[in-house]
Amino acid sequence: MDDLNSIYTDVIMEQSTATYNKHKLDGATNKEHGHNPSCGDDITLEIIMDGDVIKNIAFTGHGCAISQASTSIMIDLLKGKTKEKALRLINIFLKMVKRQKITDEEIEDLEEANALQNISNMPARVKCAELAWYTMQRLLEK
Ligand SMILES: [Zn+2]
Repeated sequence: MDDLNSIYTDVIMEQSTATYNKHKLDGATNKEHGHNPSCGDDITLEIIMDGDVIKNIAFTGHGCAISQASTSIMIDLLKGKTKEKALRLINIFLKMVKRQKITDEEIEDLEEANALQNISNMPARVKCAELAWYTMQRLLEK
């Protein structure tokens, strides 16, 4: 399998065109815009917090298949999590795509998002995969 095939897995192909997380969010309590100038990916995340729990997340915007898939996968993973847990998962994901050391248990905690692990073999696409996660981190730390 070459690098490209190992990145465009079924999960990523499916999620790159999925639209169920892509819409405006009625009653959003906060939002954050993210832009990746090296590719042109541009997303806005909206969330609804219920105390310390992320009750709902949605996004709008446009970008390449990797950025769109990564955003939708992240939303699936973080919805329903506490802010603290979400920030921990974001941190693990960002370490994974930068090829920093993470444990097998941490990789499992990422669920579907670990499908993006091989992106670390393509440095030019890492920013596409990271965009949503950095944007979410800023949003949660506001
Ligand atoms: Zn991109």
